[in-house]
Amino acid sequence: MTTRPLSFSVVILGAGPAGLSAAIQARRAGHSVAVIEKSSLPGGMSQSLNIAGQTVDLGSHRLHYAMRPEVMGFLQTIPELELQIRKRHGRIRLFERWLGYPLSLVDMCRTLPLQVFFKLLLEQAMRLGRSRAGDSFSDRIRSSFGETLFKYFYQPYSWKLWGTSPDDLSAEVAEQRVSALSLRSRLQRLIPLLNSRWKRFLYPTGGYGQICSSIAAEADRLGVEFFYNHSVSAIEPISGGACRIVTDGTTFETQNLWSTIPASQLAVLFSVTAPAEVLSASDRLQHRAMVLLYLVLRDQQYTEFDAHYLPGESTIASRISEPKNYFESHLLNQSTVLCVEIPCWEGDSTWLATDQVLSEQIITEMASNGFPALSPDEIQTVRLPKVYPVMPKGYENDLDKLAKWIEQYNWLLVFGRQGLFVPDNLHHAIYMGLQAVESLDDNGKINQEFWQESLETFSTHVVED
Ligand SMILES: Cc1cc2nc3c(=O)[nH]c(=O)nc-3n(C[C@H](O)[C@H](O)[C@H](O)COP(=O)(O)OP(=O)(O)OC[C@H]3O[C@@H](n4cnc5c(N)ncnc54)[C@H](O)[C@@H]3O)c2cc1C
Repeated sequence: MTTRPLSFSVVILGAGPAGLSAAIQARRAGHSVAVIEKSSLPGGMSQSLNIAGQTVDLGSHRLHYAMRPEVMGFLQTIPELELQIRKRHGRIRLFERWLGYPLSLVDMCRTLPLQVFFKLLLEQAMRLGRSRAGDSFSDRIRSSFGETLFKYFYQPYSWKLWGTSPDDLSAEVAEQRVSALSLRSRLQRLIPLLNSRWKRFLYPTGGYGQICSSIAAEADRLGVEFFYNHSVSAIEPISGGACRIVTDGTTFETQNLWSTIPASQLAVLFSVTAPAEVLSASDRLQHRAMVLLYLVLRDQQYTEFDAHYLPGESTIASRISEPKNYFESHLLNQSTVLCVEIPCWEGDSTWLATDQVLSEQIITEMASNGFPALSPDEIQTVRLPKVYPVMPKGYENDLDKLAKWIEQYNWLLVFGRQGLFVPDNLHHAIYMGLQAVESLDDNGKINQEFWQESLETFSTHVVED
């Protein structure tokens, strides 16, 4: 343990996209910056791994065109980051058949039984001009899409992703997670001439993790100090509008602490005990976990699709991607890897299942869902404890209690997907990091009015899938 605290004008908790973009921009603005990261690598949920000699991501990841121009501008300043334009080529299992994904009206008409197709159209038409209603996820989805899509897609999907009945989830989940909630955006996505933006995406030539590894490399070159394998054990408010951050190896002092770590962990780290109602509110902010099952196949390519979406009950997987198909020159390697995303609760039977048991279950379920037969040579798993924020009705009150308590510390900013307990995209996490730096005034202090307005803007983000 170093005896004298290290002093920085900005200390950032977490080296995911939000923390890294804040770090590099703060350094570019002339501040001394430290990043404390509990793992050994940058990237958070947006990392890549190497499995059987291939670059794979932590589940299917794309850089969406929906990003703000300033985020694109920021990415263009990062040396070594090379983005290729890719055409989406996915499919979704609905009504026991495969439809192209993103969905298109033409494909739906060609593939679905005609009575289902016309029922869907009729249900949409009956909703024309009606406003979205209700306070639960199921109310909001039913009022926007009708009963058929709710029953066959959103209801099982809700149980699978969040482990919760759609009746018990807040309507906010629909507002934040379902980008096609308004009729206008649905039409834009379904009609070929209007949907080119959703048909393409950007993907780094070195795998998705290259976005963060390139930002981290550039930040390091500019003088940001990284403290990997450091876990925060305490945060102490000290005099002069500053704080001390204690980690297992080093102690830091700063007048600007920016946290992107899970909201539920922050209050318990404070040396000044937070009020019981704040602690219990943050304790109720739960995340769904995920097991990522990687199956290495001896085939050059398993299917032509980048991702298979599986909303239904017939499998515990929510999506299966083939990382190789995200790259342009993908057929050079003689083997391929599948990445199976399996949402679960940390500690439940899926989380605790052996790799062998999980892969046997998945292979059986894939066979009954119309996938080609497969026989993996190698199986690997990665377990992510905090993936999807679970937002039951009334969770807003808990989040609000925590936010109000945080507001009293004018040296503390909280943002990022886990910090704000939001189901965010990488491009939006980067935007939050950029806004954090924008919120600093000429004296290096946070302009609270600017930050509160930024928080309002962040809350309007709708996730791109
Ligand atoms: C399966 C899946 C698919 C996705 N697909 C897409 C996609 O296609 N496109 C897209 O734009 N987004 C996608 N996302 C979302 C994207 O991964 C996240 O939005 C993004 O990584 C969030 O960045 P962040 O910096 O806010 O948080 P994170 O990436 O979670 O980073 C937080 C960092 O904080 C660190 N940390 C946590 N606790 C501590 C502690 N106590 N001390 C120190 N460090 C700590 C973590 O180790 C981590 O490095 C997907 C997410 C998932 C789970």
